[in-house]
Amino acid sequence: MTKDKEKSPSELRMDLVSNDWVVIATGRARRPETFAQQERIKDDVSSRKCPFCKLKFSGKLVISHPNDFPAFTPADDLNERKQGPNRIMNGVGYHEVIITADHKKQIAHFSSGEVKIVIDLYQKRYLELMNKKFIKYISIFHNHGREAGSSIAHPHSQLLAIPVVDPDLRSSLDGAEAFYRSQGKCVYCTMIEWELQDKKRIIYENEKFLVVCPFAAQVSFEVRVYPKEHQPYFEKMTEEEKEFFADAMQKGLNKLYKGLKDPAYNFYFHTAPCDGGNYDQYHWHLNILPKTNIWAGFELGAGIEISTIEPEKATEFLREQ
Ligand SMILES: [Zn+2]
Ligand SMILES: [Zn+2]
Repeated sequence: MTKDKEKSPSELRMDLVSNDWVVIATGRARRPETFAQQERIKDDVSSRKCPFCKLKFSGKLVISHPNDFPAFTPADDLNERKQGPNRIMNGVGYHEVIITADHKKQIAHFSSGEVKIVIDLYQKRYLELMNKKFIKYISIFHNHGREAGSSIAHPHSQLLAIPVVDPDLRSSLDGAEAFYRSQGKCVYCTMIEWELQDKKRIIYENEKFLVVCPFAAQVSFEVRVYPKEHQPYFEKMTEEEKEFFADAMQKGLNKLYKGLKDPAYNFYFHTAPCDGGNYDQYHWHLNILPKTNIWAGFELGAGIEISTIEPEKATEFLREQ
């Protein structure tokens, strides 16, 4: 019966934070090389017609700009109201685009010094908007490639400052709090401690940050960047920490670029809300989710992807890039 393990079609792994199970299809696992982007959906907008190339950068590497089609706009009143049993409020907030000057050069190709300048602006805009009226949460994210929902090829990130805490972060906060209540320590610190000990999922590390393929990866080749020291608030990063973070983020993105041949991806930050609550048990981090599979019925219905590569194999592959 020694063949049993090889025949096992899949493995379920539980995410420590959400307690959700993910599916790792070990039996029909694919070789890492086969995940490489085959052909990118062409973006035919040349830099001549690009709306971002028309903006004034005045020699700067990166600028912020209000989104021309904002999902949230500033206002003096949330106008909270009811319609039958349902609650409504106005979409009060800020929607900004953070744009790097070069039409073609993506973050994966930046030096870590250049990535640091982008992080500086993320933090600066965050600090500016977190104190605005009604703002409870600020989401910073980046879509790369049409397959990842990016409508403009010119590299850009988005910052949404909104009057509610988004449900994905809410479940992460609740999970961290529940773990803290039952175990008396931070769930992320616990995971980081284990990763440093087990070493099988570390793609890269420096003095202050850890880049891993998470044990219960949501998608194939998911990459996360964690501060090694417990810190709930992204915006509190010091100059020195930002240098180490920029180095870690650059390595993560660059390894995905090389290994998966410029995959489409989304990255986003998970950080404590700015609604005045106590989030001392939370631990901020960056999630990078490459798009290597097309989600079909099961994935959309269940909200999980069947990862066709084990995080340990993905790690080995990315480490070498
Ligand atoms: Zn452009
Ligand atoms: Zn922690």
